[in-house]
Amino acid sequence: MFEELTCTCRGCDRDLTDTEPAVVYRDGGGERRAYACGCGAVTVTVAE
Ligand SMILES: [Zn+2]
Repeated sequence: MFEELTCTCRGCDRDLTDTEPAVVYRDGGGERRAYACGCGAVTVTVAE
C-alpha cells in the first residue's frame, strides 16, 4: 500500500510527490517523511 500524498516544497513550491524521501521513520504520530529539495529546503510530511 502506498498512500497518495501530495506535498510541495516549502521553499520553492516544487512538487515533491514523486521525489524519494531522504528520511522515513515512524513514531506515535504516524509515518514521517523528510524530503530534501534541490533548493536546499527540507519538507517533512506526516501520514497517519
Ligand atoms: Zn525546493
